[in-house]
Amino acid sequence: MSGYLRSQRQTAWFVSVFALWLLLTAAATAAPKNYELTATSVADGVWVVAGSTANFSKANGGNILNTGFIETSEGVVVIDTGPSRLYGEAFRTLIESRTDKPIIKVLITHHHPDHAFGSQAFAPDTLYMLEESAQLLERDGEAFSENMYRLIGDWMRGTEVIVPSQRVQPGTLQVGKRTLRLIAMRGHTGADLVVLDEISGVLFASDMVFFNRALTTPQTPGLMEWQSEMQQLAELPFSVVVPGHGPVVRDNRAFLQMNDYLIWLDGVMASSAARGLSAAEVIGTAIPDRFESVEGASYELIRSVSHLYSEYESRALTSN
Ligand SMILES: [Zn+2]
Repeated sequence: MSGYLRSQRQTAWFVSVFALWLLLTAAATAAPKNYELTATSVADGVWVVAGSTANFSKANGGNILNTGFIETSEGVVVIDTGPSRLYGEAFRTLIESRTDKPIIKVLITHHHPDHAFGSQAFAPDTLYMLEESAQLLERDGEAFSENMYRLIGDWMRGTEVIVPSQRVQPGTLQVGKRTLRLIAMRGHTGADLVVLDEISGVLFASDMVFFNRALTTPQTPGLMEWQSEMQQLAELPFSVVVPGHGPVVRDNRAFLQMNDYLIWLDGVMASSAARGLSAAEVIGTAIPDRFESVEGASYELIRSVSHLYSEYESRALTSN
């Protein structure tokens, strides 16, 4: 074989391999996304759909939270709708595979996109929120949406912000034979709904509780307000705690860790401000060994300092 022919054949081979690679890449990006959700029963008639404890990414499609549903004699109560229309649809299909009861109430615990952006998959008149959460979603929804398209890309396809038309009031909600205790709190976003199923003792704690995952602070009215509400939650007659993020627990470990973490985070910022440290110095603070299991602590410290530190600085100035 002449050298010319050999190089011709090599070129043809490279071209066909390259064409195949192009085809495969195009197929991979065009392939429909699939959240592959699974429901775990945590008590009779109560399920949790657990997400990862990572940050939003194009790999996880924003499936970083826990959602859940409760079967009653009258129908199903859903807790949160997930980060996208696609998630909401997969979640609804999953619910329908576990129970033939109709979905009658969807309680959205707060206005953050990972909890509230799957709502299109559910009938509009079943969507409920606290009044203050609905106002926050009205205000922040579009900005959250733009950010989510940037963070998780294609997973957001077709997702629109839906502000629920129905409202929940704190107090007791009787659904069939179940009594749900609805508790309005403020610590995480200024309007946070916590749901306790009194029969099973399952507590859907929303983002008031993170476990083995660093808490996020962009909308907190104050870490110490959050901490004092934590103590009220810890007093509830629960058997199972479903954190907004992180593994389900059957004891008070999530409350102890949250309490400890909130006091530590507040203390870091208060003492740093009192010493006149800059934000750049505070973000380098070492995370104590006892928070080794808390995923994302260094990263969230940077975010929390950017959200909250200026307030600690002005407080330190006025107290001098
Ligand atoms: Zn949240």
